Amino acid sequence: MLARARRCWHALIRQNFGCPFDAHHIFDQLWPGALICKPLKIDITFYCPKCYGMARAKTCPHDPKEHISISGTQQREMLSSNAESPPEFSRPKVIAILKEYYASLR
Ligand SMILES: [Zn+2]
Repeated sequence: MLARARRCWHALIRQNFGCPFDAHHIFDQLWPGALICKPLKIDITFYCPKCYGMARAKTCPHDPKEHISISGTQQREMLSSNAESPPEFSRPKVIAILKEYYASLR
């Protein structure tokens, strides 16, 4: 149940930023009118060094071997183990705050 609630929560938050997340599949299980917002089902995004930013398969013509991508699970594991995250995904100040939070959970 927690995973389901987290997927829904992430999808609700991320939809307004156009970020992808597999959680959008949960909306297929809801009845019409269950949400006051409209889910935006967007595919996976990644960092493309040749595009100099975040991209999707539909917007990036470059070789997928060049893409940098991490999942939310990988990001949480990096934060909880105090490992370095790819700098393309978060600003150092944000990473520092998140690492402090994850360290407080130990
Ligand atoms: Zn690209």
